[in-house]
Amino acid sequence: MAVGTELVQKSQEAKEQAYCPYSKFRVGAAVLTSDGTVFTGCNVENASYPLGLCAERTAISKAVSEGYISFKVIAIASDLEDCFISPCGACRQFMREFGSQWDVYMSKSDGSYKLMTVEELLPCSFGPDDLRKGKNPVGNSKL
Ligand SMILES: [Zn+2]
Repeated sequence: MAVGTELVQKSQEAKEQAYCPYSKFRVGAAVLTSDGTVFTGCNVENASYPLGLCAERTAISKAVSEGYISFKVIAIASDLEDCFISPCGACRQFMREFGSQWDVYMSKSDGSYKLMTVEELLPCSFGPDDLRKGKNPVGNSKL
């Protein structure tokens, strides 16, 4: 089975665990690390709405908490039949933290998917390297 198809399938399985009593919008994600390990995640909502966590960030956080910071692909699944599920802006930035040259598979409920890179989803992004460029403080940064 193709890597993409398998990863999308895992994201669909992860979607089954979605905790979304408020939006009823189930999302699952599966991230493939550079060494071939897969971590999955689902959206986790909260009665305090802004605290809700997206599936993509759940999956990536699970991987990072296990020592993985190098990723090849993340697949995302939802129940949408007619359009490919697209990561929100916060998740795009969250992915960007770990590089811009890796792939995002955005799927439909039938398992078909569209591939874009993190760079394509978040052009002209701000990342860890940009922080290092700011090592020459001027103005009022006297801390
Ligand atoms: Zn998101």
